[in-house]
Amino acid sequence: MHRTLQKYFGYSSFRPLQEDIIKDVLEGRDTFVLMPTGGGKSLCYQLPALLMEGLTVVVSPLISLMKDQVDSLQASGINAAYLNSTLSHSEAKRIYREIENNEIKILYVAPERLTMSHTISLIQKANVSLFAIDESHCISEWGHDFRPEYRKLSFLKRKFSGVPIIALTATATPKVREDTIKQLGISDCGTYVASFNRKNLLYKIRPKKDTYKQILKYLRKHRGESGIIYCQSRKNVDTIASRLRRDGFNALPYHAGLSDSRREKNQEMFIRDDVEIVVATIAFGMGIDKSNVRFVIHHDLPKNLEGYYQETGRGGRDGLECECILFFSRGDRYKIEYFIKQKGKKEERDIALKQLQDMVAFCESTVCRRKVLLAYFGEVLEEDDCGRCDVCLQPRKKVDGTEEARILINCISELNQRYGMNHVIDVLCGSNAKKIRDKKHNKLASHGAGDIHTKDRWMEIAREMIQQELIKVQGARYPLLKLNKASMEVMNGKRKVTLTTIEDTDFEEPEPA
Ligand code: ADP
Ligand code: ZN
Repeated sequence: MHRTLQKYFGYSSFRPLQEDIIKDVLEGRDTFVLMPTGGGKSLCYQLPALLMEGLTVVVSPLISLMKDQVDSLQASGINAAYLNSTLSHSEAKRIYREIENNEIKILYVAPERLTMSHTISLIQKANVSLFAIDESHCISEWGHDFRPEYRKLSFLKRKFSGVPIIALTATATPKVREDTIKQLGISDCGTYVASFNRKNLLYKIRPKKDTYKQILKYLRKHRGESGIIYCQSRKNVDTIASRLRRDGFNALPYHAGLSDSRREKNQEMFIRDDVEIVVATIAFGMGIDKSNVRFVIHHDLPKNLEGYYQETGRGGRDGLECECILFFSRGDRYKIEYFIKQKGKKEERDIALKQLQDMVAFCESTVCRRKVLLAYFGEVLEEDDCGRCDVCLQPRKKVDGTEEARILINCISELNQRYGMNHVIDVLCGSNAKKIRDKKHNKLASHGAGDIHTKDRWMEIAREMIQQELIKVQGARYPLLKLNKASMEVMNGKRKVTLTTIEDTDFEEPEPA
């Protein structure tokens, strides 16, 4: 094993778990491997493939990456090939022949290809020694990335009962893990779960306000560094990329609306450090292996924590620090919720809503983010203070906020609970904007009652009061501030309010401890 590791891969030692996994595979045992991106999953089937007789079939949904992987294996002197829809008829034919002649060691196939009867009879003729199912969470409806063509892979255990399966994924909650194992029919498998704690990633959540300006400020302090800015919509991607270019940054867009060649070119330039910044939708980065990504910014709220973990996981592959900054607003939450509610099946909606809830809870958490994130993946972080997330880096001060809470509640009440956060706070801060004067809200007793704080601080107070359920938000499209029982108790003096303050509101980055 060590000799092969050195000879073909050029490594002198194994990463955590690799050796145990490989031993299991070589003994013909089914295995399930949950390892974060960059943990070294490929080696867990590539090395056994070389040591076993016959063919290893790797199922991977990432057609765009197959060629790279095969090229790099071939460069190490390993006879690898791939079968997918990008091959010409004659190329495919050549590979069929090589398979039949047992000339190929590692064959990558797209799942929809593998489930075709022609491919099945082809590999039945070959001597298959191992199936590796990459991104195996795609088989589970509970994952964020369910793909129907993966479901059909359950035939593998039936048709090739003696051939071991190794299932690999970087993203699986305990539920997805169970489901994947069940679907693949490998209930006796050895299960290996690597830690998901990426210690060199710094997790930070920032309130989403004037996001572009904040990003610009950040980039100016980090010139020359390589990073990814994720946005939910293609339109945002295009706008931000071109604004950044106008503001003197080397930034390229990446999303599914661009032509294949454009996308490939932009990705290539990023990987080669010809461009520092990629502004992208989540279509970007499936499996890209760029080591020196120094920041991953989420301009918008991701739909779930699996996605967030994957996307931030593209940073700091070299083990050096990477800052992961997410701009959070409840508005984004309502937007996503609105889209989810348009979805077809009730089960799908429920799953998506639950995932969104977990995502929001992470953003609004007042305990260590890393703890919350790891807990989501079923892992317990022992220490209470990771020292490398915004919560741990900026211990918040608790202050009495009863007076502020009353001022805000009073204003909501004077506005008959019919306005959103922005309007309420504009009134509080004494704005003389036309919309305020038109409605005569400048005549209210609350008008200007909040001049002890800035508008931004009031936004924070309102958010925290929502989180503490002292007031509530109602309505998906036009969220309005409403009062509840707790609001009344605050007004009657039956309830004291404690608020937290963060020293820096100006997006100054403190040095990590
Ligand atoms: P994953 O598929 O889990 O995201 P990869 O298999 O792509 O991870 O491996 C991530 C990186 O780690 C690759 O650059 C790979 O070459 C490297 N790597 C894997 N195993 C080892 C090892 N034992 N020693 C050193 N580097 C390794
Ligand atoms: Zn922390």
